[in-house]
Parts: sequence; structure tokens; C-alpha cells
Amino acid sequence: MNILLVDDSRTARAALTRMLATMGHVVMEASDGAQALERLRQEPVDLVLLDVQMPRLDGFTAVRQMREIQGNRWIPIIFLSARETDADLEKGILAGGDDYLVKPVSPVVLGAKIRALQRIHDMQRQTVELSERLAAANRELAQLARQDGLTGVANRHHFDERLAQEFARARRHRSPLGLVLGDVDDFKAYNDHYGHQAGDACLQRIAAALSSACRRATDLVARYGGEEFALILPDTDMAGVEKVCNAARERVEALAIPHARSRAYPVITMSFGATALVPDGSTTPILLIQWADQALYQAKLGGRNRCATWAGSSDGTGGPSMQERASSQLEARPSSRGSVPASVLRHGPS
Ligand code: GH3
Ligand code: MG
Ligand code: MG
Repeated sequence: MNILLVDDSRTARAALTRMLATMGHVVMEASDGAQALERLRQEPVDLVLLDVQMPRLDGFTAVRQMREIQGNRWIPIIFLSARETDADLEKGILAGGDDYLVKPVSPVVLGAKIRALQRIHDMQRQTVELSERLAAANRELAQLARQDGLTGVANRHHFDERLAQEFARARRHRSPLGLVLGDVDDFKAYNDHYGHQAGDACLQRIAAALSSACRRATDLVARYGGEEFALILPDTDMAGVEKVCNAARERVEALAIPHARSRAYPVITMSFGATALVPDGSTTPILLIQWADQALYQAKLGGRNRCATWAGSSDGTGGPSMQERASSQLEARPSSRGSVPASVLRHGPS
């Protein structure tokens, strides 16, 4: 063991150091409490042998400060004292010592006491290690419980929680809260044509692309359902939400994942519905989702691979503020379900 021996008498130290070295321990010496504290801060110590009467800082005062330095790491401390009354022993234990030996100490007694304390010390260290591992495992579990298993982004449960939290926070601060819902276009046809595994891989790449479009630490990307994703954008007004939404749409398109069966475009694309509001007493998170969903519906209706916004009134009706954005660099395919109105197919970033 690394033993810190604290005694103001040089001869006492020399005798004890010899004794401890014979038992196979490594000994560090200090001549008073202050020096002992310094060494304890700097070096790995497994056990402390502490004289009671010393100049500058006595043993009883030193032991209290040692316990503070150690925090949740426990180091056994044995007092060595010339005083042999029961009251002295009691005082030493109350001060924080683990044992109290009267000088001169017999090598056999000292050796036995050290061994007993070492045993407790080892057990305590194992307990600390175990509880640290448990805490780490709990952190990992909590993280997994919030994560979507396939894509690694937040799962639906975490989305619901965060939306409620952000909604309440935005209401308190009277700040805007943005929400985007996105749905992969013609994804059923993709699965049917390329297989479910390719579909899963596609969802993973989409999740990464969406995450890269959300730049603020407070933004959240979540898997809302099968091939639907949601972005929670705190402190973001409608103009900001539109920007993020367009960036997300562009990033998904830029993945350039071939989609031979898509009705509108030759690659995987997504349609998005975006909305934002400053929450008040008459609005709810559900309303925000309804608005985003309404916008998403419009984006699908408008020909897919586009962003639409919707800002209704709190009674749930949609206002004329609905607008659509399509900024695809791709040529639209003739749609099998009627052609896409030219007015909503603007080319180039808008
Ligand atoms: P739309 O453009 O109207 O959204 O058409 P769609 O085909 O994407 O819509 P629909 O809701 O009919 O189909 C969604 C499909 O998404 C159904 C299923 O094949 C696929 N899907 C949903 N979840 C998963 C998943 O976890 N993995 C895979 N591979 N496919 C999924
Ligand atoms: Mg869907
Ligand atoms: Mg879809």
C-alpha cells in the first residue's frame, strides 16, 4: 500500500518507516497536518497513519480536512497517539479516524490493523466502481429510451415530451416555436421496388440529412412515424422555419438516392409542412401538429418534393397564409395523377 505517515518527530517517523517498509509498503512522510494535506492532494495514498499532537495543524483538525479532499473516495486513517485514555480514542474516531493506536505501536498490531483496513478499503473501492458503472449504464439506457432504434434520431416518445416542454417554454418567454413535419414521397413504391432493407437504409440517410439541416443545439429531429420525420425548432418564427424546411428538403434531394418508381422525381424526395406560432392560452401542441400536418397535406397535393407552410388561427381553421414552395433542381415527371400546377414548380432556390 502507499502509506502516508504523518508525525512531527523525525525519530518516530524513521522507526515506523522501517517497520512499514519491512511489511512491503511504500511510505511517504509528512511532518505536520498541512504538509500531509498537500501530499494527499498530489499523490495516490491508500492509507494514512496520523499523529495527533503536531505543530501548525494537529491530527484531529487535519483528519476533517482530509475527509473533505477525498470526497466520495474513502481512505483509511489510523491515529497514532501517546495519549491512551478512552476519551482520547473516542475523540479520534469522532473526528473521522478509522482506528486509534497508542504509541509505541507493536509491529504485529499495526500490521494486522493495516490488513483489516485494506480489506474494507478494497471493498469500498469495488462498490464505488460498481456504482459508477451502474450510473453510466443508466445514462446509456436513458439515452436509448429516447432514441429511434433504426435512425438514431429522437423517437416519438421523446418528440412528444420535447414538444410539450418547448411549447411551455415558448409560452413563458412569448417566443415563437416552429414545427416541421416531413414525409418521404412514394416510399411504399420504393420499398416495393428496392426491398425493405434498402428502405431502412434510406431512412437512415434521410435522418442524417435532416439532422445536418438543423444547426442549432436546441433543434430536435425526430422520427415521427414510419417514414415521417419531425423537426422542433425553438425560438424560430415562420421565416426561419421556412429556411430550415427548405434546407432539409434540399439535403434530402441532394442525397440523390435513385427512386425509379417515384411518381414525380427520379430520386428520393420528401414533402414538408411547416408552421410556427407564439403559444398563448388558446393554443396547444396538438394544434401546432395539426397545422404542420395541414401544410404537409398541401405539399403532397401540390406535387411532392416541396415545402408548404400553414399558419391557421387558434380556432383550428387555416388562414390564407398558406403558401407552397418547390425549389427542386430536378425536372418534374409527368404525374400519373394529373400534372403538377406550373405555378408551384419554381426552379432554383427560392
Ligand atoms: P406519399 O408520397 O403519399 O407519402 O406515398 P407513400 O408511399 O410514401 O405513403 P404511404 O403512407 O402509402 O406509405 C408509407 C410506406 O413507408 C409504407 C411502408 O412501405 C414504408 N415504411 C414505413 N416505415 C418503414 C420502415 O421503418 N422501414 C421501411 N423500409 N419502410 C417503411
Ligand atoms: Mg406517410
Ligand atoms: Mg410517404
